[in-house]
Amino acid sequence: MASPRAGVPRPAAKGTILIRDISQLATQNDELGEISDAAIFIRDNVIEWVGKSADLPAELAEADRVISGKGHVFMPGMVNTHAHMFQSLNRCMAQDQLLHGWLKTLYPVWSRLTADSVYTSTQVAIAELLLSGCTTSSDHLYMFPNDVTLDDTIRAARSLGLRFHPVRGGMSAGVSKGGIAPDSVVEEEDAILADMERCITTYHDNSKYSMLRISLGPSSQKTVTHELMISSARLARRHPGVRLHTHLAENEEDIVYTHKMYGYRFGEYIQAVEWDKCDCWFAHCVKLNEGERALFAQRGIGVAHCPSSNTRLASGIAPVRAMLDQGVNVGLGVDGACSSDAASILAEARLALLLQRAGGDPRGLGVREALRMATRGGAANLGRGDVLGQVAPGFAADVVGFKVEGKIAYAGAGIDPVASLLLCAPTSGTVNWSIIDGHVVVKEGVLLAGDVDQQVVGAEAEFDVAGMCAAADKFCRELTAGVSEAALGKQ
Ligand SMILES: [Zn+2]
Repeated sequence: MASPRAGVPRPAAKGTILIRDISQLATQNDELGEISDAAIFIRDNVIEWVGKSADLPAELAEADRVISGKGHVFMPGMVNTHAHMFQSLNRCMAQDQLLHGWLKTLYPVWSRLTADSVYTSTQVAIAELLLSGCTTSSDHLYMFPNDVTLDDTIRAARSLGLRFHPVRGGMSAGVSKGGIAPDSVVEEEDAILADMERCITTYHDNSKYSMLRISLGPSSQKTVTHELMISSARLARRHPGVRLHTHLAENEEDIVYTHKMYGYRFGEYIQAVEWDKCDCWFAHCVKLNEGERALFAQRGIGVAHCPSSNTRLASGIAPVRAMLDQGVNVGLGVDGACSSDAASILAEARLALLLQRAGGDPRGLGVREALRMATRGGAANLGRGDVLGQVAPGFAADVVGFKVEGKIAYAGAGIDPVASLLLCAPTSGTVNWSIIDGHVVVKEGVLLAGDVDQQVVGAEAEFDVAGMCAAADKFCRELTAGVSEAALGKQ
């Protein structure tokens, strides 16, 4: 029985939804491709039929809810595979630091986090993700100061209706053990493992259309011991569907640190700690060499590419073209709001595309490749490729629609409305419609309340965005009270 602290899961939707007259549908399905004048028929929480509106079978022509897709581009809900939602309250801090200095600036601030502030911080990240077309997200929580638990993030996800893959992280090696985090913010390894097991037992749902699956993720090789990496891998593998996720090969500092501490590189490291199987996906991987990329491809290990974070922290440009060419699965991640200051998978897809061309190759990454990373690439990272990342019969009813007609940002892009989602609207678009698990979560651009406590029976309640933002501002002030602007890294 789930703890009330984590909120109450909303039952899967009941009823039918017909989205018809869609101007352009990018299904991300190899057989269906892109369809103009398209329709999608949803029954309960599953997509039942996809095709041209003109071909809609007569028995599907009516539904409990009919949505007009005229002037819209629809596509599968996007999948975010790397985030730290606890960081949304501390944007624009440590503005000019490399990763390790950035972390050392922020650890003392994060050590003040509480259950209530993490709940609000997570809501902010999720609201941003939903409004920019993401419907499934992982969230890597690796610090548990004061009364913070993973349950607080689950409550936030349920309050907005996001399909959620929280990662129970942890840090055990503080400065006194050679790590980079203060000893005050690390946990005992036995306590980390016990809470990982509690999270799995309490929340992990391995059913086909699950709304919540747990992953395990000690923070990085800089903050945990080999023993914890091995123990968490073995724990995950005792529970079907529990995956493993952490940071790897983020920048030059990581290469130096890993060599100094262990005498080897990333490929040897992940094999030494048993994180070298297809149930693993790693964030960043900016510094993977050719042999390590080959290992990833051979073992089916995934990559969460986070271009905003990598450029903000001057970590480098991940070799995405080479990864794809070598057969590595690549998804996208927004990373934490302290390092990317935003949470839009569409914006990450756009930046990924631009960065792969910055070196001089105009075909470095294509629009369709970038959108595939944002959908199917992400779904594969989370082990959900069978039901997420495509609009096709049998897939989960997770679809998003961007209104392009009548919008300045897309005007004049009628030759390719799908490409306009990336090549136009540089700050990334806002969805007009988002449906998750058969529930409408964004209705005509308005975010709806998602949890059963807030849901008004028989109606759709608007989510209290202003209240959330006010709470976020209050917590931001509390977390940084008494810390100088210089110490926070303000320019
Ligand atoms: Zn990260």
